[in-house]
Amino acid sequence: MQKRIAVIGGGIIGATAAFYLGYLDQTQSLSVTLFDDDLGQATKAASGIISPWLSKRRNKRWYTLAKEGAAFYRKLVTDANLGTNVYQQTGTIVTRKDPNDLDSLFQEAEIKLRHTPAMRSVALLSSQDVGKRLPFLTNPPAGILVEGGAKIDGLHFVEALLDQAQKRHVEISRQRVFFDESGKLRTSKGLESFDKIIIATGAWMKGTLKPLNYLVKVRPQKGQLIDLTIKSKHYGGHLPVLMPESSSDIIPFEHDKLVVGATHENDGGFDLKPTSEARNRLLTNAKAFDQHLQMDQIDRVRVGTRAYTDDFAPFFGHLPDNPNILLGGGLGSSGLTTGPLIGYFLARAVVEDQLGVWDKYTKPISHYII
Ligand SMILES: Cc1cc2nc3c(=O)[nH]c(=O)nc-3n(C[C@H](O)[C@H](O)[C@H](O)COP(=O)(O)OP(=O)(O)OC[C@H]3O[C@@H](n4cnc5c(N)ncnc54)[C@H](O)[C@@H]3O)c2cc1C
Repeated sequence: MQKRIAVIGGGIIGATAAFYLGYLDQTQSLSVTLFDDDLGQATKAASGIISPWLSKRRNKRWYTLAKEGAAFYRKLVTDANLGTNVYQQTGTIVTRKDPNDLDSLFQEAEIKLRHTPAMRSVALLSSQDVGKRLPFLTNPPAGILVEGGAKIDGLHFVEALLDQAQKRHVEISRQRVFFDESGKLRTSKGLESFDKIIIATGAWMKGTLKPLNYLVKVRPQKGQLIDLTIKSKHYGGHLPVLMPESSSDIIPFEHDKLVVGATHENDGGFDLKPTSEARNRLLTNAKAFDQHLQMDQIDRVRVGTRAYTDDFAPFFGHLPDNPNILLGGGLGSSGLTTGPLIGYFLARAVVEDQLGVWDKYTKPISHYII
């Protein structure tokens, strides 16, 4: 008899978990349903940069997870047969305002490269070199090119993954579901029992687990980014991402599309309304590098809700007293980098019916859920 598995949440964690539940379950011993209510997802709003190596963050567990998460994309893209419309390894250019800081960072990059094949190569670029790689910039900064850096479109990425999951007999159900106090799920069919459940509800996880009397220590953060069209210029889609220090990232897509973002608004909560303040701030930041950009080139503003923990680190594992309810969340602003690997680990734990040893990636779940 098939085991019944539920995945709650169809963002990057839930979609990857659902895909691998279908992919790894070769004997079809599982009956998998993913529930997603289509509300305010972080993943769909994000145009993501996969380039954690030169981050200023000094959290070792986070770095291990992000480094392995970035490398994991190669496997995921192959396993799920994803095209370059959803994942493009175009390189990323990381800048520092102070030339001495840039030199130190380059030394750090060269050392990291020795142990990190996914970075592929690093190069110190002058402002002119950056201008050649990003020809639409009027004021290119000097920077470090990391050839292994990549960009993804969050919406297309999860759609492609869920499409592949469905081909492997995963059912996708667009609805909000709730726990009752006994651990069953209330769905449109009534109260349903599942053998195992993966919770991947992002910023909404506090509400998901409240009926089971758990307190999840995550808070929402609003993020906005702008999509622009570059006027009358057409470049190949293979341009690298610019990651300027203390400013907004500039992500070229397709031939004449730019994405600029993102904001980090702690007081924005779950609000999904675009604001003129964010629009102005992001455009001003981008104009520091391309002075020709104008307000009328903004095609749309995207808004999403990230989930943050107190130590800004993601967590995953199982509920403190219930190994059949697994969960992952608190991904913050690097969730497109860390989320797929978490989804894969959780799916493997279900398929193999064995929990992994994950303490090199995350503190115990009891740190985040009481
Ligand atoms: C503007 C912006 C830019 C970003 N840029 C980057 C970047 O450059 N690089 C990077 O690595 N990361 C980036 N991120 C972060 C990244 O997008 C998130 O950390 C990640 O996508 C979170 O994924 P998740 O699966 O945990 O949650 P989500 O994507 O939020 O998915 C959770 C889903 O669960 C659903 N749900 C909740 N409760 C229920 C319920 N009871 N029943 C059914 N469904 C439910 C929600 O509606 C949602 O669809 C960015 C985020 C934003 C907002």
